[in-house]
Formats: sequence, C-alpha cells, structure tokens
Amino acid sequence: MNTPAAGGGEHTPQLGFAQRSYRARQAGLLFGLPMVLAVLYERGDLTWASWLLWLGPLLHALLWPHLAWWRARQSRDPFRAEGDNLLADHFFGGAWTALMAFNAVPSLLILALMSMDSVAGCGPRLMLRGLLVHAVGVFAGVLLYGFDWQPLSSLVVVAASVPMLLHPIAIGFVTNQALRKLQRQREALETLSRIDALSGLANRGHWEVLVRKEFARYRRYGHTATLVMADLDHFKYINDRYGHAAGDEAIRRFAALLGRELRANDTAGRYGGEEFGILLPDTTGEGAREMMARLRRCLHDEPLIDGHVVTASFGVAELTPMLDTCEAWMRVADQMLYRAKHAGRDRIVLPGPGGSEAEDGPLNGEEGVPPHLAVAAARPDVLRQLLTGIDMSETAFALFDPVDRLVLANAAFIEMYGVPAGDLRFADLMRNCHTHRIGPRIETDDIDAWLAAADSKRRSRPWRSFDVDMMDGRILRVEETSFGEGWVLTAISR
Ligand code: GH3
Ligand code: MG
Ligand code: MG
Repeated sequence: MNTPAAGGGEHTPQLGFAQRSYRARQAGLLFGLPMVLAVLYERGDLTWASWLLWLGPLLHALLWPHLAWWRARQSRDPFRAEGDNLLADHFFGGAWTALMAFNAVPSLLILALMSMDSVAGCGPRLMLRGLLVHAVGVFAGVLLYGFDWQPLSSLVVVAASVPMLLHPIAIGFVTNQALRKLQRQREALETLSRIDALSGLANRGHWEVLVRKEFARYRRYGHTATLVMADLDHFKYINDRYGHAAGDEAIRRFAALLGRELRANDTAGRYGGEEFGILLPDTTGEGAREMMARLRRCLHDEPLIDGHVVTASFGVAELTPMLDTCEAWMRVADQMLYRAKHAGRDRIVLPGPGGSEAEDGPLNGEEGVPPHLAVAAARPDVLRQLLTGIDMSETAFALFDPVDRLVLANAAFIEMYGVPAGDLRFADLMRNCHTHRIGPRIETDDIDAWLAAADSKRRSRPWRSFDVDMMDGRILRVEETSFGEGWVLTAISR
C-alpha cells in the first residue's frame, strides 16, 4: 500500500519507518481535527473573525504530515529526522492544548496518543523528550493564545473525540504489518543462511546439522542411514582449461543433478569447493551405492561441461553400531572418498566385509588404467615382465591394488611374511601373521586398531620408510610407495 507521496518504490528500512509514520501521522491528525474544531466551536472561536486560531490546527492536520515525510526523505538519516518530526508533533499538540483551554478529553487524548507514537517509533527516551517539548508547546500556546482554563468536556466534544480513538487502531494495523514483514524477512534470512549461494544446496553448516539429527534418530530408533561424500574429479584442471565461470556452472549443474536424482527425503549439501555431502535416510550402503552409480552414469551421459565429461568420486558410509559419533561416521565417508580418489577417481567406494573396501570400477567399455601408467596394480603382468631378470632374492616385494588386495608378491616376500595361498588383502595377511606369530612382530591385542593405524599412516604420505622387527629376530627396512593405482611394499634385511 503506497501513497502518492510515498512514490510506490522500495525504501531502506529507515525510510520505510518514516513512511509508516507518515501514514500514521496523516490518520492521527485527521482523526483529531474534529475534536479540536469542536472545542473551538463551543468556545465561539470558530468564526471567520478568529480564523488565525483554527488555521493553526488545520494546517497542522493537512499540511504537516506531507512536510514531515518530505523532510524524512530529504534527510541522510531518516530515522533521526522522523524523531524530530515526532518532537514537532508534541510541540503542536501542547500548543493545541492551550488553544483548547485545557479541555480534558481532547488534551489528554492528544498527550496519550502522541506519547504512544513517539515511544512506539523511537523508544522511551524520545517519549520523555517529547513530554518536555509537549510542555514547551503548552507554554508557547499560552503565550500565543492566552491562558484559559476550561477542563470540563461536553458531550459534543467527547463525541468529536471518538474518531481519535481510531488512531490506536491505525497504529496497531501499521505495527502489525511491520511485524509481519519483519517475520517474513526473518524467515527469508533464515532460509538464506542455510543455503549455499552458488549451488542452491544446503551449506556445510546446515547440512552437518541435518547429519547430526539423522545420527540422533539412528541412535533412538535404529533406522539405517547412509552418508556419501562426493568430490568432482580434477576440478583444478577444469578451471584451468575452461575458466572459473565454467567451473561454477559445472558445480551448479552437479547440484541440479543431485536435486533431480535424489529422493525427497535425501539432502545434498555443498561441503566446500567442489565437494558435496549427501545424506540418505533409510538407505543401506548398498542402496546408496546403486543411487551413486546412477548419478555416475548421468555424469557420463550428460556432461557437466559441454563436450567434456566431468567425473566424480564417491565415498559411501552406512551408519553402523560401530560408529559411536557423528564425526566417526563422516570420517568413514571421507576415508572412502579418499580411497576412491586414490584408486583412480570416477568411482564409488564403500567399506566391505572385514574392514576392507568394495569398489565400483570404471563404467563398461571405459579404460580403467590411465595410459600414462606403465605399472599398475591392474596390470601385474606388465610389472612381472619388468622385473624379469632382476635379482630380487634379498628384497621382499609386494604389489597391492587400491583396495589393498595382494596382486603380486615375489618369493622373498612370500617367505618373509608367510603368505598363505588364496585371494588375500593386506589386512588378511597381517591378521595371519598376528595369529600364527610369523613375519613381522605385531605386539597388540587389537589387530583392527593396529591395521587402522597402519592404514592411516600409509594414506598420509605417498612414500614412507620404517624398520620392522620380525618374529625371527631380523630387522627389515620397509618402504611403502603409493601411486594412483595401488601401492608397493619392499623390504630388505638391515
Ligand atoms: P581431485 O580429483 O583430487 O579432487 O582433484 P581436484 O583438482 O578436483 O582437487 P582439489 O581439491 O585440489 O581442487 C579443487 C579445485 O576446485 C580448487 C579450486 O580452484 C576449485 N574450486 C573450489 N571451489 C570452487 C568454486 O566455487 N568454483 C570454481 N569454479 N572452482 C572452485
Ligand atoms: Mg576434486
Ligand atoms: Mg576437493
């Protein structure tokens, strides 16, 4: 609702306040005019001869609101200008009190309603100043119109004061509108504070709150839930090659894809940069893997950048009783993402039985081993050929794939580590050593914790070297070297 004087445009909050005051002032003064004129009429002052007397209130009611609004608009500080306007109202109100010979009903109504305006608009301090100015106005009125004391209000004056009672209703209405607008703005602000501007997804803070809620729900009711951390692959390269704007667009498109492919109950959040968190309530790890496989397929079929397939890696973590904190849950998803990256990207990795991971390899028909890697865990035959003829009888050598499966081991390694036959992972091998007290001396009661520590040390650096005490008294110098497609362990006696 805009008045012509208000111009109809959007205002700053300060000017918005002055505009609301403008309407309230207009209404209040128009409603108050009849009672002032009624008093003047009763006193016999409402004659052409005494026009100077009633011209004051008339001008105040008809002109002053527009002048006050104009002043507020001109001012650099409309809030302060409106405070001054309210003080001016008090001054005029005081003067009209003297003019009305202190007629009780209209004088008290003016005092009460103007105080209400000033305290509602600018607070109690301005109201106190307003009361002082009101008194000054009374004094000025007495000087101008002379002192007359006729406080008794007739029925006519009381009746003429009734419209003035509409003023609090108008103020209430204006206040209610302001409060509702404030509420809407607060809600909009609250929504904004939860949303990531670029992707339109939940931002990290809000997403983590939802993950915590889901964790609590699991603790309470035992509903399954799965977390996925997804990260777009080689994004630095995307930015370098196509520019930051194209990178941004890829992020937006990925977010849109998530919005399209996820179910209503799932929540995707932008964890930061080109990393996303996906919360899937009532979903097992296997269910999540299937959903991510669909997403992955979409990334190949509908490239995020026209003409360039941008792939993503996914780390999946189903909530299990072993995960006793929300942080642990997120950490597992993070570790799985790390593994997916480590295993060559564009894949989905989730914890498998026995603490190891199952993973999704490249899509059908796509080459999994990058051509620049001559040696890869996926190609032990290449490595075997390379090693042919090199004397490695003193060096134990083992090649593990990205999910720690033993792909290739020489005789020295098999002997030193007592490698049993069959399909083995590093964890199985170490458990075997621990149980049968062969190979490296593993002094622990908690082999799982030992394995987790060894794993995290290896993941923390692409290369590390350390001494290992063997059960037979030898000391081995062990080196572990990770590369995109797995890792290599070599050991020599010191
Ligand atoms: P990886 O496959 O290992 O994930 O490689 P990467 O290059 O994606 O990895 P890294 O996390 O090192 O680099 C992420 C890059 O994403 C770095 C940064 O320039 C870019 N990036 C982060 N946030 C934004 C963004 O909002 N817009 C754009 N265009 N680029 C972003
Ligand atoms: Mg990345
Ligand atoms: Mg990243």
